[in-house]
Amino acid sequence: MKEDFYDILGISKNATASEIKKAYRKKAIEYHPDKNPGDKSAEEKFKKAAEAYEILSDPDKKARYDQFGHQAFEGGGFGGGGGMNMDDIFSQFGDIFGGGFSGFGGFGGGGGRQRRAKGSNLRIRVRLTLEEIANGVEKKIKVKRKIQAPGTTYKTCSTCNGTGQVTRITNTILGRMQTSSPCTTCGGSGQMIDHRPSDADAQGLKVTEETVSIKIPPGVEDGMQLKVSGKGNEAPGQGIAGDLLVAIEELEHVELQREGNNLHYDLYISFSEAALGTSREIDTVSGKVRIKIEEGVQSGKILRLRGKGIPSLNGYGKGDLLVHVNVWTPKTLNKEQREFFEKMSQNDHFKPNPDSGEKSFFEKVKDMFS
Ligand SMILES: [Zn+2]
Repeated sequence: MKEDFYDILGISKNATASEIKKAYRKKAIEYHPDKNPGDKSAEEKFKKAAEAYEILSDPDKKARYDQFGHQAFEGGGFGGGGGMNMDDIFSQFGDIFGGGFSGFGGFGGGGGRQRRAKGSNLRIRVRLTLEEIANGVEKKIKVKRKIQAPGTTYKTCSTCNGTGQVTRITNTILGRMQTSSPCTTCGGSGQMIDHRPSDADAQGLKVTEETVSIKIPPGVEDGMQLKVSGKGNEAPGQGIAGDLLVAIEELEHVELQREGNNLHYDLYISFSEAALGTSREIDTVSGKVRIKIEEGVQSGKILRLRGKGIPSLNGYGKGDLLVHVNVWTPKTLNKEQREFFEKMSQNDHFKPNPDSGEKSFFEKVKDMFS
């Protein structure tokens, strides 16, 4: 039986978002692996708290959990206790503790206990046209990021002698107990700043503007996030740089509407063009294309231009461009035109007479999605 997420965080079902956050923060600090080295049960509790927070901090997931309990997530990736790995958990920390706390990069790496600090992530938005999305694009974006200021030098931390750990021995009734915790002087890196130039901050970093080139593959969607590794803020000393997270925003196209990887285009033709047939040049994401409209075309017909849609992100296949034919009815008529149409309406040839080959609107919609 899986433990209740509210019980794990020690809160009631009515807890507010900030109470949930606070409760998780408390548990995360209490059971943090660096505070409880080698303690498997603490690690288990740490993971459980992270999993509970992952669900309860997200209004959608929380609502599902409140309604269906753990069943809501069975088979959905959060099923079996160990659903989150340590990287996931630490990446969650950015939100809870603000920047800086994510610097547990080297955790669990075996060997030395030094932690390599990780610089904080940067977030930017990139607006793309449908054409850029269809064809892929390389964007050069100016980013303000912190880098190690040239001239900064480091020395071994005098508090921990470069080990990154501080060991404390205390006498208890059970005997001598040795506990070790990350060195607070150097943040666990084992190094501290020896000298820094005047334009550097306390960590020996300074802000620069850099042009980062971002390759965007074809097929991305609004709301997706790409990661450019190592292009976030740098960290002091031996630390590793954070990442640049690029949120994709899709600009609306004047004529084309996107639906998954398919595109839709509304084509308007006149009565006479419908009766006589015509050809039209239309915009696609890969340039203009001339299409032929057969004589006698019916309003509502959908022409499918195969492969003229958006390529799928995984590189296999492309969507189609669906051209919806709309026969335009004049909204006003002059006397002469009115007489013309009145004459036509008496002619049997102009009475609707769909034959069995004519698909209804609903059948066409069904075809489109099959
Ligand atoms: Zn130290």
